[in-house]
Amino acid sequence: MFSAMIDQDGIICLADGYKTEDLKRLRKRHAFYCPVCRCELDLKIGPVKLPHFAHKPGEACPVPHEPESPYHLKGKRLLYEWLGRRGFRPVLEPYLQEIRQRPDLLLEHETRQVAVEFQCANLDAAAYRKRTEGFLKFGIEPLWILGGNRIRCLTGNFFQLSRFHWQFIQKSEKSPKLLFFCPEQKAFIILEHLIPFQTNKTSASLRFLPLAEASWRDLTARESCSPLQLKDWKRNIFSFRTSTVRFLSKEAKQIAALFYEKYQLPLPFFPAEVFLPVPSGYIFAHPVYVWQGYLFLFMTKHDTFRLQSAVHYMDWLIKGKRLKLRWSGRKTAAEAVCEYICFLHKKGFLERKEEFYYSAGSAVPEPRLDALLKRDEHYFSE
Ligand SMILES: [Zn+2]
Repeated sequence: MFSAMIDQDGIICLADGYKTEDLKRLRKRHAFYCPVCRCELDLKIGPVKLPHFAHKPGEACPVPHEPESPYHLKGKRLLYEWLGRRGFRPVLEPYLQEIRQRPDLLLEHETRQVAVEFQCANLDAAAYRKRTEGFLKFGIEPLWILGGNRIRCLTGNFFQLSRFHWQFIQKSEKSPKLLFFCPEQKAFIILEHLIPFQTNKTSASLRFLPLAEASWRDLTARESCSPLQLKDWKRNIFSFRTSTVRFLSKEAKQIAALFYEKYQLPLPFFPAEVFLPVPSGYIFAHPVYVWQGYLFLFMTKHDTFRLQSAVHYMDWLIKGKRLKLRWSGRKTAAEAVCEYICFLHKKGFLERKEEFYYSAGSAVPEPRLDALLKRDEHYFSE
């Protein structure tokens, strides 16, 4: 940590531009204490990490904080300096006694207080919830910035997002995004348009934003700034169709069995209509072709249907645990169904008469690769 009490009467913040010589002098003349547990701290000045305070070995502080890796220390300090340059008056590691929490940074924005947490280490769901709720209860808005070291890039705009990542998504957001900061590259990295393809493979648009150019609004804007890219999505479906699928979840096996039973189609020959990149689809904790596969079977089973019946059908699958949601978000699931039907309507697969939808032509999928690729082209071209 960078902040400590100095001789019982005041706070010293190492991020405020002390030179190494000054710090060595201070260390000789003063004692430093943890503002939380009042234990004496060591002032560490070394070649690898930025100067920082640390508890003496064996002393457990009641406020948990993540291990002070050089990466975390550097990022925290850069964010602190950046906020100062953007006209804020951030406080580093303030101890909020009422909730017994110590965010990395606290600042005031308009009339609200915002706690910035720079999260590089793992954080389990319970700890995340506890910290977030603590802030909210106290009227403080949390802003979680993940360490750039937590980004797992796959090929072509696909990322490996785990439970760790998904927990940071604002549940009420229409277009969810993930915010990262990399102190090595001195830049924010924002992932937008999160569209899961498989459980561990999510398509996203990456925005690289150097610290020098970034504004507070860039971090907190609700709308997406980058366009949705379809080229890599299409390429990914092509490789899905032309290579063997190694691992299938239970739900994927179930939908594969249903398609095989009805159309004698194996998974790589699933129709383009079950791979649609819709914004709210992330709510389903399944590969895209699982939840859309059920909708496809529903549509092709009925000559005409109402949007509301499709929503009810999906609700029924969720209640029966055939489909799982990432978190309780039935409204978002209903939105995903609407977006899906609208997409198909726009692309001419469905027609609509008053409140009824029906297939525009033959809805039977074709078991030929060339026909499939042509259809992919129709759906996934910009
Ligand atoms: Zn302490």
